[in-house]
Amino acid sequence: MMNRRVHSKVVKASALERLRDRGVTLEGIAEIVYQMQSPYSTNLTMESCLDSVAAVLDKREIQHAILVGVELDQLAEKNQLSEPLLSIVREDEGLFGCDETLALGSVFGYGSIAVTTFGFLDKHKIGVIKKLDTRKDGPVHTFLDDLVASIAASASSRLAHRIRDEEEAAEAGKEDISDASNQHAG
Ligand code: MG
Repeated sequence: MMNRRVHSKVVKASALERLRDRGVTLEGIAEIVYQMQSPYSTNLTMESCLDSVAAVLDKREIQHAILVGVELDQLAEKNQLSEPLLSIVREDEGLFGCDETLALGSVFGYGSIAVTTFGFLDKHKIGVIKKLDTRKDGPVHTFLDDLVASIAASASSRLAHRIRDEEEAAEAGKEDISDASNQHAG
């Protein structure tokens, strides 16, 4: 029998839809990226933060994590998980840890800045992550808050490396120009 693979486009569209359905906008994630990176970059724009978030969401690894995590949040909301997992997810039990572990998996591809930023965001929930904090009898966001932290952390790291590349390219450009003018003078 032929293996029928799910097309990447379907996975990506579904992951983005899940975020949207759960009240998370790419702009909201980009705002966290802006807060994380603006101390290090004077010319940082929201547009570049948003581009970085979109690029991170192009990766299958985070798309799959979103599908798994949001599904579990939603099943818990509908009381469709079995006990004791249902209570653990519904109550966002502090020692559970599987929500962080799932989200952490996809930051590794973006290096140490992504890992440390994820740890920071896990501790100091800011922006949309704070809004998502699971509250008693409200919607369940046990997995979603960590997924958002993961996307923001990866996008921050990606942006930090890009900015350095651009700065170095600009410096190299200046050197080229001064080399050329030195040659001209010589
Ligand atoms: Mg959580």
